[in-house]
Amino acid sequence: MVAEIDVATDIAGNLVEVHERIAGAASDAGRTPAAVMLVAVTKFHTADRVRQALDAGHRVFGENRVQDAEAKYPDLKQEYPDLRLHAIGPLQRNKVRRAVALFDVIETVDRPRIARAIASEMEEAGRRPDCFIEVNTGEEAQKGGVLPAEADGFIRLCRDDLGLPVLGLMCVPPLEDEPSLHFALLGKIAARNGLEELSMGMTADFEIAIRFGATLVRLGTAIFGERRSFSPLQD
Ligand SMILES: *Cc1c(COP(=O)(O)O)cnc(C)c1O
Repeated sequence: MVAEIDVATDIAGNLVEVHERIAGAASDAGRTPAAVMLVAVTKFHTADRVRQALDAGHRVFGENRVQDAEAKYPDLKQEYPDLRLHAIGPLQRNKVRRAVALFDVIETVDRPRIARAIASEMEEAGRRPDCFIEVNTGEEAQKGGVLPAEADGFIRLCRDDLGLPVLGLMCVPPLEDEPSLHFALLGKIAARNGLEELSMGMTADFEIAIRFGATLVRLGTAIFGERRSFSPLQD
């Protein structure tokens, strides 16, 4: 049953549809569609499905876990040198080395210990993935991200003291909340810190996120269909 659903998922068609919805939301907001990048989230989906998206011309992907990314992406990156891989899940200290080696963008820099580890690993490896700082806009205990009240100081630490290439901010609003409040807050923190990129918006709310200035939207379900398994902590 699951296999039949897999085969039936029209990934190329879904990508076309998602791009149309992004363009519609952008133009409704008076923004150019090219200002919104689509990150295709492949967590719990097979390399074969990633390949279908690559065949359809898509190149920007997101994975939550280092070990899952390592299982799928090294070969694909060889084959498609312009593939860009984003880390969008919580990072553990002991996986920072592997994360810096594999990811092109780390969206979840969220605490001093991890920021310092990334900075020293970048030095060691001579590789500098772009960084986003994750903000826990809902102040949820189980979620990663710096608290809004501590964001300015943490951004300064990352950018000025550690020299991380910080492009912008990222958030995952609480499931039950009205997302626009969180998107607006993220935009405000970014603006006062001179950061231009906002990674916000998932399948359920990306059009709202675009209205609030998202420059990256991270979509899994809208492209690849329902995930077979999930961990609440990862969502
Ligand atoms: C899974 C995930 C997404 C994509 O979620 P969908 O609802 O399937 O679009 C985006 N961002 C993060 C951090 C995720 O974990």
